[in-house]
Amino acid sequence: MPRLKIAVIPGDGIGKEVIPVGIKALEAAGRQFGIDFDWVHFDWSCETYHRTGRMMPEDGIEQLSGFDAIYLGAVGYPGVPDHISLWGLLLPIRRAFDQYVNLRPVRLFEGVPCPLASKQPGDIDFLVVRENVEGEYSSIGGIQYEGTEHEVVVQQSIFTRRGTDRIIDYAFKMAQSRTAKHLTSATKSNGIYHSMPFWDKRVQEMGKAYPDVRVDQYHIDILTAHFVRMPEHFDVVVGSNLFGDILSDLGPACTGTIAIAPSANINPEKQFPSMFEPVHGSAPDIAGQGIANPLGTIWAGAMMMQHLGYPDVHDVLLRAIENVLRTAQTLTRDMGGNAGTEALGNAVIAEIG
Ligand code: ATP
Ligand code: MG
Repeated sequence: MPRLKIAVIPGDGIGKEVIPVGIKALEAAGRQFGIDFDWVHFDWSCETYHRTGRMMPEDGIEQLSGFDAIYLGAVGYPGVPDHISLWGLLLPIRRAFDQYVNLRPVRLFEGVPCPLASKQPGDIDFLVVRENVEGEYSSIGGIQYEGTEHEVVVQQSIFTRRGTDRIIDYAFKMAQSRTAKHLTSATKSNGIYHSMPFWDKRVQEMGKAYPDVRVDQYHIDILTAHFVRMPEHFDVVVGSNLFGDILSDLGPACTGTIAIAPSANINPEKQFPSMFEPVHGSAPDIAGQGIANPLGTIWAGAMMMQHLGYPDVHDVLLRAIENVLRTAQTLTRDMGGNAGTEALGNAVIAEIG
């Protein structure tokens, strides 16, 4: 019987409320296929930071390295600056484990009210592939003449050939595996002088190996407008770290609630553990009330099973989410209902059977 060893970091705020529901759902779905889990909890969070001055222990990466995967709730809380929770936990994990792909599926489900009035469930179903370890999110740069009227700030972006090629290649592979076989690249080569023309050139070059994939590219500004006006146009969308970040928040927002959306930080070569989390944050405004939507966390768990080689478990979980949303009996407030976290979780588990 397969036994999966999963590191669990519930984190802050509603992260601590949705992760237990995700674990229950994964156990229910795993049981059907004879899969067992060892869940090992790590209480790394902004509370840890207040106590110890660190988001995670010095040997945190080492502690995580033996696991099959990492299941994360959300980190960040008022009182701890965002860059501390980000650079103290999320980014080190992504980088140490070379999770260079951030995969975020965007889908409008039947039963969820859509803010784009004219759109039907089949209209929004695409995948954002974001570069996750280099690009615009770098700490290289500096300030000169600080505090004077001549102050100059330089912030470098890093685009390596290896880093650019491997994310673009992953996106092409993803597109090729889907029915529409359509890849859209996010660029801004009319305004960004060096990195984006390079990105465009690599898209063209890598595309030669995928003649059956249709490719188009849009500047990021008009691309965001198209996301809202014609989401049905998109199949797989690839972007740099910054552009992918923006698109993968905007995408789910177009589907009614960010709380359903999952995010997978993947090391495709499986040399290191990958990490799965909901797109949403710790939501301090609703934390502790038991009303957070756990579906993004459950879907993230489904992606984890897909990555670990159990696509059937993924499908069972996703079908359960679809069915619960379609009947619209048990919805949390963000989706227009009045059910709590546990009730919605139990509805999904009942669907799993
Ligand atoms: P972060 O910086 O960590 O991304 P954030 O401040 O950008 O966090 P969230 O914490 O995701 O944003 O919250 C944004 C809004 O969405 C809040 O009003 C929050 O209550 C709501 N929200 C987020 N997640 C959920 C959820 N799972 N269920 C219900 N509402 C949610
Ligand atoms: Mg945010």
